[in-house]
Amino acid sequence: MLNLLRKSLRAKFTIVLFIVGVVPLTATSVFFYYTAKDSLFKNVFKELKWNLEDVSGLVEGYFEQSQKDLLVASKNTAFAMYFLDPVGRSHWVREQQRTLKYLRGMYPDMLDEACFIEAGGREVSRIVFDDVSHSHDLSSDESRAEFFIKAFLVEEGEVFQGRPIISEDSHRWVLPNATPIIVNGRKAAILHFEVTLTYFQRLLKKHINPDRGAAFILDNEGRFLAHTALDISETEPLPEAATQETPAGLKAVYGKMMKGESGMDHFSVDGKDHYIIFKPIELLHQNGNNENRWSLGYLIPSDRIYVELDILKYNMAVLALTAFAVLLIAYVVGNYVTRPIRKLASATNSISVGEMPNITVDREDELGTLSKSFNTMVESIKKRDEALKALASTDGLTGMFNFRYFKGELEKAVKSGARFGRPVSLIMADVDWFKHYNDTNGHAAGDQCLKRVAEVFIKAAREVDIPARYGGEEFVVVLPETDIEGALKLAERLRMKLREEIIPFGELQPGGAVTISLGVASYPKDAADAQALVEAADKALYKAKEHGRNTVWPPVKEG
Ligand code: GH3
Ligand code: MG
Ligand code: MG
Repeated sequence: MLNLLRKSLRAKFTIVLFIVGVVPLTATSVFFYYTAKDSLFKNVFKELKWNLEDVSGLVEGYFEQSQKDLLVASKNTAFAMYFLDPVGRSHWVREQQRTLKYLRGMYPDMLDEACFIEAGGREVSRIVFDDVSHSHDLSSDESRAEFFIKAFLVEEGEVFQGRPIISEDSHRWVLPNATPIIVNGRKAAILHFEVTLTYFQRLLKKHINPDRGAAFILDNEGRFLAHTALDISETEPLPEAATQETPAGLKAVYGKMMKGESGMDHFSVDGKDHYIIFKPIELLHQNGNNENRWSLGYLIPSDRIYVELDILKYNMAVLALTAFAVLLIAYVVGNYVTRPIRKLASATNSISVGEMPNITVDREDELGTLSKSFNTMVESIKKRDEALKALASTDGLTGMFNFRYFKGELEKAVKSGARFGRPVSLIMADVDWFKHYNDTNGHAAGDQCLKRVAEVFIKAAREVDIPARYGGEEFVVVLPETDIEGALKLAERLRMKLREEIIPFGELQPGGAVTISLGVASYPKDAADAQALVEAADKALYKAKEHGRNTVWPPVKEG
């Protein structure tokens, strides 16, 4: 990996983009995720707390308000006048019924029953729901009813508020409320009304968002009086909060609630975290006697809180995708940037093995310029290469091919002749009496003379022939695809041409002109390979010298 990074520009590029783009993005997101998670929890609990305060305020408000209303109603003169004006009793009973109806009208959704009972326990007037009871419906004796007895224990201006009971009139769970009516300083009667318990169930359901969690009211006996997630029967026994399935953590919380504690806790059910927040409903400061000890709880499974966190998780997924896209872009861009560089590198490598590649980079940026410079460089190297090659194969004095080049070409020609079964001939020529020429005319003139001889060779040779200076005053012509007859003809023509050439001081030569002797030989007839062909031509040349010079000699037969 580190090695790759060291060697690859593309990898560096990717890393840079990664560091510049992805890392800060990831770091911010992770930071954001955790702070958001934290504040989300805080917010949720703040919200729960508010909700809890809100609902418990409503419940407490109910007790306070119903107490006040009961007290206000009890001050209605119709109740006292019933005793003070026995003659007008039927009128006062009607007035009482009007008052009870008025009370019912004020709380149509919670007041089940209201009645006025004299000290002896006899009901005087009563309303059940919206119906005023006729005198023959009234029960004869309430004196043993608990609310009746307890209402007589509280003082004037005080209210007794009892625990839930099943109403005798409505036959469902109600909360009894009662206050004594004082006539001439004596407790002469009570005003009583019953509030349906389902009122609290409805109250909770109205104020608690069921998508968030569940709220409930627990009494000090451990019964649910209201529960947003449970159907509590109006007539059946109230459900016990703690059952066999209740997790221990929650049971402990119920215990605390029953003791009137408040707080926050969490427990897990089947590995799922739940949070609960609870507080007692404050009824103790009320005047009179309230026997209810209630506690309000709010339960929320943690995954409900995490719903919002899921959005964050989604964000993280988007982030991962972004990171991937950035890496992909980095790779593609890195590739785009480094492609010409890689092309240049491979082209440079192929130069080192002798190729002369041209690269095409369709760019106008710095890399395009670099590529153009590279191509220019390759062109100039090519030219220089060719010049060097030419120089290496050229004879300095005559400008014709040199011995080295001749050797190579002869080998090639023989090889190709061998492959295709074609003849290759070789003419070997030597200037006659050249020592004499030098001695007579000086070495510089000798050089000029050699140049003239070379020109004759170059001019007379055919396109495919390869004339070269063999060394000193010796010349050769390689004749590919040429048999001995053709070679002898060309040799003769060379001899003639040179003989006819007017070369300075030629007349001073022993033959009256600068002449050459030539030996000819052919592959494969006279020689098996290039070396043997040279030797054969040389032998023929020797013969030409022997036989008076200025002559052409064919291959010398052995033996
Ligand atoms: P023959 O007819 O037997 O070939 O006689 P020759 O004098 O040509 O033969 P020899 O080999 O005795 O002399 C060759 C001379 O060619 C000797 C040498 O100084 C001369 N020579 C060789 N190379 C050059 C050259 O480059 N320039 C000049 N000026 N002379 C050269
Ligand atoms: Mg010689
Ligand atoms: Mg010679």
